Amino acid sequence: MRDQQATAAIYPIVSERAGADCTITSIKTRIVDCPTTRRHRLSNTEVNVQSYVIAEAMLADGSIGFGEASTLGGPRWAEESVEAIKANIDHYLAPAVIGQNALAFEQNMLRLSAAANRNHAARAAIESALFDAAGHALDLPATAFLGGVVRDRIEVIWALASGDADQEIDEAKAKLAACEHRRFKIKLGFHQPADDMIRLRRIVDALSRSAECIVDVNQGWSEATAIRFFPQLTEMGVALVEQPLRPGMVEATARLAARFPLPIMIDEAAFSDTDIVCSARAAAGSILSLKLVKSGGLLAMKRAAAIAQAFGLELYGGCLLESGIGTAAHLAVLSSLPRLEWGCEHFGPKILERDLTRGEIQFRDFHIHCPVGPGFGISVDQDALQAMTRKG
Ligand SMILES: [Mg+2]
Repeated sequence: MRDQQATAAIYPIVSERAGADCTITSIKTRIVDCPTTRRHRLSNTEVNVQSYVIAEAMLADGSIGFGEASTLGGPRWAEESVEAIKANIDHYLAPAVIGQNALAFEQNMLRLSAAANRNHAARAAIESALFDAAGHALDLPATAFLGGVVRDRIEVIWALASGDADQEIDEAKAKLAACEHRRFKIKLGFHQPADDMIRLRRIVDALSRSAECIVDVNQGWSEATAIRFFPQLTEMGVALVEQPLRPGMVEATARLAARFPLPIMIDEAAFSDTDIVCSARAAAGSILSLKLVKSGGLLAMKRAAAIAQAFGLELYGGCLLESGIGTAAHLAVLSSLPRLEWGCEHFGPKILERDLTRGEIQFRDFHIHCPVGPGFGISVDQDALQAMTRKG
């Protein structure tokens, strides 16, 4: 601990020189329930209302920053629910960093790790709020703390996940016509596989192969089902298949990767750095989906990207239907990565009836444009936040 204590003494000096006191004075949380524009289905859950925990960090100089923990349909995509996230932040995580300097990013994450095992979404929400607050305090973009910007826009995928092929075709054509998206992720696994293939073929044919399609099975298939249906995915020109089997089925996934000429993207199978190493060494996938909810924070997500790259994996920016707040936190990291071969899917703000930010994140020319400004470069719509905050 001696080296950490010595380092911590530097931060008050840094912030004083910048005319800011970055001591963390409070972290408040609220649960927010945001209606979506349509039902969003996965193999293991579905949502009509997307729920978040919004963390609001305040520093001694009055600077405020926001972070977000996103879930999908309660503790179903991962083990954390918004109710558990809020309770664990309020009782364990926030007290671990109150009084610390927000600029001591790594040390604050060590404190959070010591205060709560796993709880990745909760920890990422706090770290995000601290990056945003520190950026406002020093009048710097959060990307300045992450190595600086490599790209200011990222090609962005849209997900088709209602399960109704006619509706999904209309939705995709509208996105193409508006020049918002030309790559689509079709969620599979909530119909019988043969029915999913009929639905997928209708979508692919309707788009006349003018759009790139990828599919996400969300762990919904067995190895035998995958062996049966991967050839159809290949024949339809699907560009990649995401998480076909359950996490832990490393050998079976590696057999699929060796057997078929279809790239496999690792999502739920790799949360931790050791998960990434395990999948990569087994050759159980060739692309990694990066998410704050998996890595547990911005710095950890950047490290996960580096580990994946070291094993030759390509990178993709995954999402969990984040609002503009969580999207901006992801974009801060994604914009600073040396490589991001597959773009991202941060369409979350567009699937909400009302986003929590004031439109700084733009979708045009098939790209999401990274917001510019102090912190995450966004401003929170306080009216929307109040209106959708869960009462009681
Ligand atoms: Mg996925």
